Amino acid sequence: MTKKKILITGGAGFIGGNFVHYLVNNYPNYDIYNLDLLTYAGDLTKHKDIENKQNYHFIQCDIADRKSIFTHFERENFDYVVHFAAESHVDRSITDPEIFTKTNIIGTQVLLDASKEFAVSKFVHVSTDEVYGELDFDPNTFFTEETPLQPNSPYSASKASSDFLVRAYHETYDLPINITRCSNNYGPYHFPEKLIPLTISRVLNNEKVPVYGDGKNIRDWLHVYDHCTAIDLVLHKGLNGEVYNVGGHNEKTNLDVVKTIIKSLDKSEDLIEFVEDRLGHDKRYAINPTKLEQLGWKPAYNFDTGIQQTIKWYIENEDWWNNIISGDYRDYFSKQYQAI
Ligand code: NAD
Repeated sequence: MTKKKILITGGAGFIGGNFVHYLVNNYPNYDIYNLDLLTYAGDLTKHKDIENKQNYHFIQCDIADRKSIFTHFERENFDYVVHFAAESHVDRSITDPEIFTKTNIIGTQVLLDASKEFAVSKFVHVSTDEVYGELDFDPNTFFTEETPLQPNSPYSASKASSDFLVRAYHETYDLPINITRCSNNYGPYHFPEKLIPLTISRVLNNEKVPVYGDGKNIRDWLHVYDHCTAIDLVLHKGLNGEVYNVGGHNEKTNLDVVKTIIKSLDKSEDLIEFVEDRLGHDKRYAINPTKLEQLGWKPAYNFDTGIQQTIKWYIENEDWWNNIISGDYRDYFSKQYQAI
């Protein structure tokens, strides 16, 4: 049997990196190609344990670089593409939206063109629940796959635009696709600018933790491992052309998440510093994952155990995040949170 070749874009980042590990562990008969530009959010140290495996390959490349992308597709003839690569941080999209348009929209279009030209069997586009906009605080309302897209930030607008392109390539050119829209992820190798690793790393260093506004905004948290199993299922069993929401019914206010981490690390809530709210801050996200559950998906983690494991991981892997927060990240943090 010939080996399947699978291209993972953004496999040096948080979720793509976890998915690369997931594939290496679960699909020894796949040839795995991790294509990543290695922006500030990408690092290969997380793949030290697999970098010498025969079925793992790394390609450094910008997804918006049409010529190089076409060269790689022509050379490797990928069977599957799972597309994670993106600019992913809402705050950065508010201060510098242009790169979000280039990477998230143009980059996706280049990959779609190459996938069409070289006839990949499935293109899975990893999107986000943020494309739906926001919900109010009524706990009985959820995003379904039929919820209209009403993105509010430059980040979510760029992701929604890429979703429309993926859909259009299916409708117009019959490209076999799926789109996944997942809620907020947490887990190992999450870049310390995002709420959970930001809080863990700052609390461990006895530093103030910035919380936007009154901290009452609600996010629906999913362990990254559960996101990986969802993508695996959609890649292999998803009905052609369909969108699948991914979420595990773990709605928490940002303040609750921060307090849980502080309590678990036995520190004082005096570390909390309320800062001016994020512009256009979405109130609430909550996913209805019924369609994916009907395909056979079930999350393995609940938030209470998942967050404790994640805190433990950050304690045991201090070198990884300390290395990150000591570099350019310092400038980013002081510009972003001038009050702290
Ligand atoms: P991340 O920022 O941790 O990783 C992004 C990766 O993409 C990095 O390795 C970076 O180097 C790479 N990249 C950026 N620009 C590139 C370019 N032009 N060419 C090639 N590679 C490039 O992001 P993440 O949190 O792992 O998110 C991955 C995907 O999942 C994104 O598409 C995001 O929209 C989506 N998503 C994220 C979440 C979440 O909670 N983090 C939830 C739902 C969906």
